[in-house]
Amino acid sequence: MTVKLLNFYAADGTVQIGASDGTKTVDVSAVGYSWGWPEIFSDWERIVPQLENILKHAKPLAGNIRLAPAVTAPGKILCVGLNYASHRAEVPFGAPKYPALFSKFNNALNAAGGEVRLPAGARELDYEAELVVVIGKRVKGASEEEAAAAIFGYTVGNDFTARDLQRRTSQWLLGKTPDGFAPIGPSIVPAAALDAANLAIQTFVNGELRQDGTTADMIFSPAAIVSYISKCMTLEPGDIIFTGTPHGVIFGMPEKERRWLKAGDEVVVKIEGIGELRNVIA
Ligand code: MG
Repeated sequence: MTVKLLNFYAADGTVQIGASDGTKTVDVSAVGYSWGWPEIFSDWERIVPQLENILKHAKPLAGNIRLAPAVTAPGKILCVGLNYASHRAEVPFGAPKYPALFSKFNNALNAAGGEVRLPAGARELDYEAELVVVIGKRVKGASEEEAAAAIFGYTVGNDFTARDLQRRTSQWLLGKTPDGFAPIGPSIVPAAALDAANLAIQTFVNGELRQDGTTADMIFSPAAIVSYISKCMTLEPGDIIFTGTPHGVIFGMPEKERRWLKAGDEVVVKIEGIGELRNVIA
């Protein structure tokens, strides 16, 4: 059984931790466990069998589960640009020798099922399907092997981007971190249960396949990215890293064929073995 972890809103509005086997989702706290994310990150091997047991015996959550972002308060949201060979070929940003890093802030966090809204004055809303790394251990100056051991798990992300704001100046920040532009979820799959080296990664807009790649096309692997970043900044449990997008973004199309996302569009990012992240443009 692969135990996936998620955050959801309880009836009282608080965020609770849930566990899911893909068919059944349970409230971890409802059966007497009071683990928070720090315990889950640091004591995962011991907790897994107990979660499996809870999933077998506890009552499933009823009705529509309103999800919260898969990580609700990361200390850092880092992103790698241009990390798939196929995407580098479609956008005019050249080919950096090192991972191109930028950031989003927590105002951009959003959940599976959450709405995404363009800020006033922006027009060019685009999607970017991304594998998102969740750090589980403090790590600094790590080798790739140590970096791999610091990755708790993976979730699905959409690095929504306002292309006109991204390209207004040399710094991409404004176009990358408007409110709600970093949905992550629906759940986290622990790295122990998933080999992320060759996963299908896709985007669908209103059911139409737009991005159809594989994580095998990444230039810098998750472990290489974590190692690289950790040489300059300490990564902490709960930090998340968007690892780049494959080809097929709207910005990669010939200018006349670009149809930017508009209100009512449904965008689904799907990563094999992790899940589907669905968002609607408001
Ligand atoms: Mg991106």
